[in-house]
Amino acid sequence: MWIDCHMHTPLCGHAIGLPVDYVEAARQRGIQLMTFTCHIPMEADRFGGPHIRMAEDQLPLYLELTQSAKAVGRDYDIEVLVGIEAEVFPDEEPLEAMDAILQRYGFDFVLGSLHHQCPGYQQRIYQHPQYGNDFGIVEQYFQDLTQGVLSNRYDSMSHPDVIRIYGTVQHFNPADHEPTIRSFLQAMLDTDTCMEVNTSGLIKGVYQVHPDPLILGWAAEMGIKLTIGSDAHTPQQVGQKFDEVYPLLYSKGFSDIHYFKNRVRHSLPLLPNGGG
Ligand SMILES: [Zn+2]
Ligand SMILES: [Zn+2]
Repeated sequence: MWIDCHMHTPLCGHAIGLPVDYVEAARQRGIQLMTFTCHIPMEADRFGGPHIRMAEDQLPLYLELTQSAKAVGRDYDIEVLVGIEAEVFPDEEPLEAMDAILQRYGFDFVLGSLHHQCPGYQQRIYQHPQYGNDFGIVEQYFQDLTQGVLSNRYDSMSHPDVIRIYGTVQHFNPADHEPTIRSFLQAMLDTDTCMEVNTSGLIKGVYQVHPDPLILGWAAEMGIKLTIGSDAHTPQQVGQKFDEVYPLLYSKGFSDIHYFKNRVRHSLPLLPNGGG
């Protein structure tokens, strides 16, 4: 069974296609369970405005559009779930409003993303000496992610090595950061938080899955649980590259894939051709 637990809606201002169109795409690709996870409303100065995320007063519309998708999904025997892509950030203060939204809306699934390219994080890099050079920025980024894991806010940490794209660093080799990345993995293990395999990495930057296969190997060895998502911003991207990534995950030794419903984790067998 193919599942895709990371996709967007036009409310974020940089995705196209209505949720019902994503369901249609899922039907064509044989995906039987899908979770919308559009970008959570955040303060614009530090986290980006209407071209990055919906405004708080658009949340009811988000629910309405995804409810219509759910209804279409029922006709096709596709389960449609409604999550959100929340933000990870090293300061707690801007996360307070986000926590209130997470509490108010009963999402099925909460992704944790550290969008290093957002102005607030960029500012920290330039203002805090511990970030320093490329090596220091990557180290600090994974430590910030680890702190995010330990906050227990998130069900799964999305595109964990997204630091390698968007130009914040010129050089990224996971092998140089093995102890810090393993601490991040250990934090997920300790808190029973999943790690997301995000296939959108295969269509940008260095054209590799998020996280890098080396990190996936460490994660398999440590027993990290995975969720999977295309990070689709168009209906055409639903389930993108799953035919390449499922066999990769299987070859690394993963035998299950997970999804969340009402914030409760469910497991499915992971088989090279899409699961059982
Ligand atoms: Zn996006
Ligand atoms: Zn996303």
